[in-house]
Amino acid sequence: MDPLDPLDLFDVDSTLDPDQRLVRDTVRRFVDDKVLPIIGECFARHRFPAELVPEIASLGLLGSSLEGYGCAGLDAVCYGLICRELERGDSGLRSFVSVQSSLTMYPIHAFGSDEQKDRWLPALARGDAIGCFGLTEPHGGSDPANMKTHARRDSGDYVLNGAKMWITNGTIADVAVVWARTEDGVRGFLVERGTPGFDAPEIEDKLSMRASVTSSLFLNDVRVPGGNLLPGVTGLDSALRCLNEARYGIAWGAVGAAHACLAELLDYTSSRVLFGRPLSHTQSIQLRLADIARRITTAQLLAFRLGRLKDEGRLHPTQVSLGKWNNVRMALDVARDAREMLGAAGISAEHCAIRHMLNLESVITYEGTETVHGLVVAKELTGVGAF
Ligand SMILES: Cc1cc2nc3c(=O)[nH]c(=O)nc-3n(C[C@H](O)[C@H](O)[C@H](O)COP(=O)(O)OP(=O)(O)OC[C@H]3O[C@@H](n4cnc5c(N)ncnc54)[C@H](O)[C@@H]3O)c2cc1C
Repeated sequence: MDPLDPLDLFDVDSTLDPDQRLVRDTVRRFVDDKVLPIIGECFARHRFPAELVPEIASLGLLGSSLEGYGCAGLDAVCYGLICRELERGDSGLRSFVSVQSSLTMYPIHAFGSDEQKDRWLPALARGDAIGCFGLTEPHGGSDPANMKTHARRDSGDYVLNGAKMWITNGTIADVAVVWARTEDGVRGFLVERGTPGFDAPEIEDKLSMRASVTSSLFLNDVRVPGGNLLPGVTGLDSALRCLNEARYGIAWGAVGAAHACLAELLDYTSSRVLFGRPLSHTQSIQLRLADIARRITTAQLLAFRLGRLKDEGRLHPTQVSLGKWNNVRMALDVARDAREMLGAAGISAEHCAIRHMLNLESVITYEGTETVHGLVVAKELTGVGAF
């Protein structure tokens, strides 16, 4: 029999249809040709590779699962494959696409007025405009119901006050989807860059996600027209629907980061000669490689199952929580193992393991920490929310 693909031991990719295969191959080629040659330098210099945005947009990767407005209308498995291949390059790049697609374009598409959709979606799909999603506040992201940012109605306008923290793309965003408490409950607002009283400074001292922009948002008597309220939002549940979209992509993306680490390890351990033989010829290294492959393979199957359920319209938020939790934990453990198995080389920016490891420390925290997803799953099991 033919040898198996080390990164796909159960040959799940053979179940892809021709469109899905084309998406996978296109993004894979883009990552190999355009991302991998520069991403180590971007991470080291704390630089978001903005020069890649036009090509990401021209490949149809922004808002790829939305219909109309210049979006590609791809299925959920395609979106998952996009996230997996991008995160094989870097979690920061996948975060950029996740936030643009699932956390900016999705809420405008799902909850926006026709004017908001016409104005923003085509520009966001083309990469001519960049968006961000402001939910987390400085006093605690795990408990968004304790939101302090508020919007007061004044004539036909809204006046927003408050602060958001750890917001991906914030500083470079042309439009921010800002969640704020109103007298009618939590609502979403479109706040444009340059609106008086709105400031989005970058958080500079990050040791993770260094090829991504992360920002604070400060809102000081920010006046926006009533037409900037997302009319379809019904409360905090609408924000959580957006997070569910993004978490789905993360469950796939994490597999890509782990793929990159395993590929690097297979290469390194077969050429590194110690005690007269390649490292990969020793039993303990072989067992560690096999164990990494076992973990990646099961996470990959889980991602595919999530994708099929989503395409059938049957995906439950608890399943997304379990998938995000499992797959990011898997990828972080794999990246840490890979870093260690490379020895001192593992701390060098020349190898990807430490970059993925540091990035995944963010991925395991954002979009719901492990604790939060564990509590979501436990609530499903027991019927009791213990948050
Ligand atoms: C790089 C990066 C990018 C991000 N991008 C965005 C973005 O674009 N938009 C956005 O809105 N947010 C974003 N975030 C914020 C992210 O979603 C929050 O950091 C996350 O929700 C956790 O909130 P927190 O950091 O305030 O931690 P906290 O909520 O303060 O949690 C601290 C610790 O307490 C634990 N904990 C929480 N509740 C319980 C409980 N009931 N019982 C026991 N332990 C508990 C948590 O698991 C965690 O370990 C980003 C974060 C990072 C790091």
